[in-house]
Amino acid sequence: MSKKRDYYDILSVSKNASQDEIKKAYRKMAFKYHPDRNQDDKSAEDKFKEASEAYQVLSDPKKRENYDRFGHSSFSEQGEGFQDIGDIFSTFSDIFSEGFFGGGSGFEDLFSTHHGRRSRGSDLAYQLDLEFKDVLTGVKKEISFKANTICSSCKGSGAKPGTSPKKCPQCQGKGKTFSQKGFFTFSKTCSLCRGEGKITETPCATCYGKGFQNKKRKLSINIPPGVSQGTRLRLEGEGEPGLKGGTPGDLYLEIRLKTHPIFTKKGRNLIRPIKLSYLQALLGTEIEIENLTEKETLTIPAGTAPGARFKLANKGLPSIDNPVRGDLICEVDIEIPKKLKKKEETLLREIAELKKEKVKPFNKNFF
Ligand SMILES: [Zn+2]
Ligand SMILES: [Zn+2]
Repeated sequence: MSKKRDYYDILSVSKNASQDEIKKAYRKMAFKYHPDRNQDDKSAEDKFKEASEAYQVLSDPKKRENYDRFGHSSFSEQGEGFQDIGDIFSTFSDIFSEGFFGGGSGFEDLFSTHHGRRSRGSDLAYQLDLEFKDVLTGVKKEISFKANTICSSCKGSGAKPGTSPKKCPQCQGKGKTFSQKGFFTFSKTCSLCRGEGKITETPCATCYGKGFQNKKRKLSINIPPGVSQGTRLRLEGEGEPGLKGGTPGDLYLEIRLKTHPIFTKKGRNLIRPIKLSYLQALLGTEIEIENLTEKETLTIPAGTAPGARFKLANKGLPSIDNPVRGDLICEVDIEIPKKLKKKEETLLREIAELKKEKVKPFNKNFF
């Protein structure tokens, strides 16, 4: 019976706490143990009841005086406890209606769910494959993808064209229902309209009342020059539509560069191999090579070794933050013929003799 805790202890206030302090203390506990925040938590409910009981006594000067004098026994007959939570709310309705949890944000905001709220649409991601020459010049690309789009029939209302959604009769269009339990105002997402405040009597046949359709969208996008592997371009507002008039999401384009059969890319530089014959490498030459979009002439000096690099300045690629093209680097590879023509071999042997180099003897069997 008298296992009851001290009311001052329950609210963690001193014996001579002012009414204001008591109110504040209760406010804190009621917030913490509020059933809306502690669903199916029996101990929270008990604490909520206990604090409410303590507050009921200590907030009433007469009851407080009695309690101070006689302790719990002063109430033992009637019992000051609350049987059900609803009693608590109706008992303290005055304080709660004046904004128990302080400020305009209020209770409703704290406990209402986010159903039925405006929300921003989802972002979308799209991977776009580009070629090196697109990086050089920039490119206009058409992309198509499936995404939620505002329904073209009902323009997003979800109602059959020609009809419009009606104010929800259960919540009067508020999207929430309120249970008046004293100064606590419980708000719940309206079960009929699921928070939308409106109900659609005849849903749109195209989108089945959803207000959006998953359909193919086409977009034409100008890709600037200088993008590289992994560059993310954000297209504001091209994501999915927001709910209930919320802002649409964004579309993120992620660039992937296709590998090129000849060129490799290193930053703003392009690297390509060039093949020279042993004679071109020894004697020097002028060759024509392909750039990404044009032809270039490259002068090879006599005595070029395999692996030598020749740079064509500003024939590489730009980058997003540097519009100046990098370089084209040509890496020399020297082709050694597997077989020599008879005349060629004869001449080469003469050179070997001249230079007194030891070489494999002439293979007579071959001929
Ligand atoms: Zn529709
Ligand atoms: Zn409703």
